[in-house]
Amino acid sequence: MSQTLPGTIPASLFEACADSIAETARELAALGWTPATSSNFSMRVDADHAAITVSGRHKGRLGREDIMLIDLDGHAVGTDARPSAETALHTQIYRRWPHMGAVLHTHSRTQSVASRLFASDGVIRLQGWELQKAITGYLTHESTLEIPVFPNTQHMPDLVAQVDAWLDAGKPLHAYLIDGHGIYTWGRDMAETQRHLEALEFLLGCELDLRKLRAS
Ligand SMILES: [Zn+2]
Repeated sequence: MSQTLPGTIPASLFEACADSIAETARELAALGWTPATSSNFSMRVDADHAAITVSGRHKGRLGREDIMLIDLDGHAVGTDARPSAETALHTQIYRRWPHMGAVLHTHSRTQSVASRLFASDGVIRLQGWELQKAITGYLTHESTLEIPVFPNTQHMPDLVAQVDAWLDAGKPLHAYLIDGHGIYTWGRDMAETQRHLEALEFLLGCELDLRKLRAS
């Protein structure tokens, strides 16, 4: 599969994005957070384009040929490859926030179980955890970090609309869970996004442990 780049995007820029995605994906796959070719990852390339994982590839073994260019409407640019089925959830972030530079979506066991457990509430409220401070903008464990849990659907416009509705209500959003599915989070660059993902995985695991211990 070949990727032809528009004249405005230097090959070195696209390759740097592809390498960053592949490296992060390898680390997340090694943690077991991307089972059975699930999960998808992207990085902003410029104001109008992002690099994103090609659909259906094993995330522990990505090379540059497994990353493709899309525009912010989610259309493939300069390639016949098919982007992830969930591309619209990535481009939504880039369109809403021009300063956001990366989006990570994984399907870890902890994320999946937490999404089922809290689906009926529609939200997980994290409070009192020091690691909330790993989320940009949260300066104290005393703040409340709300992670919405949206119903799963194969119809992406429905999910896009739920995210828009949350944001249009003026509520802060750094991540969301999809019921029985996984998590989306983002940040200004890949490092910040990976920090958000690791913190959220840890916090969700703590909440699940507390529930179990209190029930026993
Ligand atoms: Zn998914």
